Amino acid sequence: MAEDSNKPKKKLGFYWVYIILIAFFIGSIVFSGSNSAKQTTMSELMQMLRDQDVDKIELVNGKTAEIYLNDKGMQKYFPGQTNQKFGVSPNYTLSTTEARLYEKVDEAQEGLSNPIEVTPVERHNWGAEIISWILPLLLIVALYVIIIRRMSGGGGSGVGGGQIFSIGKSKAQLYDQEKDNKTTFKDVAGLEEAKEEVMEIVDFLKNPTRYTRLGGKIPKGVLLVGPPGTGKTLLAKSVAGEANVPFFSISGSDFVEMFVGVGASRVRDLFKQAKEKSPCIIFIDEIDAIGRARGKNIMSGGNDERESTLNQLLTEMDGFGTNSGVIVLAATNRADILDKALMRAGRFDRQIYVELPDLNGRREIFEVHMRGLKLGNDVDKEFLAKQTPGFSGADIANVCNEAALIAARKNKESIEKQDFLDAIDRIVGGLEKKNSVITPSEKKVIAFHEAGHATTSWMLEHAHPLVKVTIVPRGKALGAAWYLPDERQITTKEQMYHEMIATLGGRAAEQIIFGQISTGALNDLEKVSKQAHAMVMYYGLDETIGNVSYYDSTGQQEYSFQKPFSEKTAEKIDAEVSKLIESAYQEALRILNEHKDGLTQLAEKLIDKEVIFTDDLVAIFGERPWKQEERTFSKRKKEDENQDYPENTTIA
Ligand code: ADP
Ligand code: ZN
Repeated sequence: MAEDSNKPKKKLGFYWVYIILIAFFIGSIVFSGSNSAKQTTMSELMQMLRDQDVDKIELVNGKTAEIYLNDKGMQKYFPGQTNQKFGVSPNYTLSTTEARLYEKVDEAQEGLSNPIEVTPVERHNWGAEIISWILPLLLIVALYVIIIRRMSGGGGSGVGGGQIFSIGKSKAQLYDQEKDNKTTFKDVAGLEEAKEEVMEIVDFLKNPTRYTRLGGKIPKGVLLVGPPGTGKTLLAKSVAGEANVPFFSISGSDFVEMFVGVGASRVRDLFKQAKEKSPCIIFIDEIDAIGRARGKNIMSGGNDERESTLNQLLTEMDGFGTNSGVIVLAATNRADILDKALMRAGRFDRQIYVELPDLNGRREIFEVHMRGLKLGNDVDKEFLAKQTPGFSGADIANVCNEAALIAARKNKESIEKQDFLDAIDRIVGGLEKKNSVITPSEKKVIAFHEAGHATTSWMLEHAHPLVKVTIVPRGKALGAAWYLPDERQITTKEQMYHEMIATLGGRAAEQIIFGQISTGALNDLEKVSKQAHAMVMYYGLDETIGNVSYYDSTGQQEYSFQKPFSEKTAEKIDAEVSKLIESAYQEALRILNEHKDGLTQLAEKLIDKEVIFTDDLVAIFGERPWKQEERTFSKRKKEDENQDYPENTTIA
């Protein structure tokens, strides 16, 4: 690249500036300091004048008198030295003021026939003066250059670089699959579902005409959602590797600068580059840095720069056709805080969840990262996977590397089990700060909690049947249960009630087994409370309150400062809500007490395997006696996405 060949020259230029500056400085000191004249006093000068030893007096810049002697004076004061006829340099100097000098010179020569006159001279020390002008200027320029370089990544490699004028250029890194080490699906362990979903993209990039011929549309943007270190970047890279296309990688925070308009211009530049290389993949890490929901609150103002960057991104994504062959993959930890506009059709309309690996996943990740290692005979991947609950793929990669280093430090021939255990200890030490490690006792509580949900929902006719339970931490939740929701259009009171019981099952299980409850059930309580409120206030499902709905479908609640009901009704609502929740909780306790053995078996299985499926429940409890109505299911739903009350309602 042309920019690269410029680089050494630019460096040299910088040194030259320094060298010239220093030379200039030294030079000016040397030349201005060449004046070797002696200092004298006013009385001595007066004496010289009276004796008529002086040839001339110059007053330099109104403050230094320079005295040149004549032949007679030279003989007297510098015997044996030749007179400097042309007054190249003075013989004496004297610091004084203008008025005093004139006065004393006149006084000393009073009565003399041809008195010496003082000649005022303006003299500039050009060197010093120029430096005093240029130095601050240079400093400012240098500071500017440093700031710009900092901001544009300190002259990083690849596209962009550290030039002042490339500030609006994107800083995306380009991996060309032919040159660099190719990443393929082989390098991604686990994540089977995610791989399956991105397979289509690979297919399209390899063979676009097959899809476009039929008029099919391929997603332009795919959002990878999951905690850090779970392999989102790796997955995106492997898509590019499998399809053999270039891969642009950039972080969302790279777009954001303190200069207005820079982010937008970088987005523009990125897409321009990508289109030139099409088909290709753009990977935007941490998209929440620009994609966070735009300020709803007018009062708080909001970040205009981030918004204009986001708008530019949306414009670019709308602008390129589905057939252009540029596919944007973006990663985020939190899809919920992203601007809804990003998720609209034709943008990031697909989401792929990349979660922390379970036991199996961790074993496979160990396998991938042990490929290049020299292992001892006692290394057991299954065992190591069991030792690392809550670890992400990146943590495991770290463990493998750390183990290799530990073994090397001990001068071993191969990496042994103990080295891995030491490495795990070390990583856990670092992780504890991040709070993602679960202690065995916590694991037990979580297992019983999730088993409680699973058992109650299994035993209730109208609760959603369970598909999968894990105790792998995800986001804020410590475990999760997936249900197969039937997409019913109408929910009966009984169905809602059963769901409330199942939701409270986690807390009830903790109560039964440990005799105490933990804070881990916050989500459950929130959900149950909302559901109970909805039943009483919106759906008219409560006898005491009756067939009244306080639901405002116009969504303009925020303009009304008053509740649409009296204080008395409010009290009644509160009472009904707590009654409902309490009776659901008692029911959950009853079910779990009845099936305590099954619950314990289930929890132990969870502790051992971390994930359990419907089959395991059937093995413990037997088939459910109720038959599921025939329906077609479109997708699985996560527990916390199960909302059975109207959307966008705020409950007073
Ligand atoms: P993210 O982008 O989700 O933060 P990365 O893709 O950057 O995570 O993962 C960091 C490193 O962790 C990868 O380079 C890889 O070595 C390792 N890693 C993470 N997940 C996996 C996985 N599923 N299989 C193999 N290695 C993984
Ligand atoms: Zn729960």
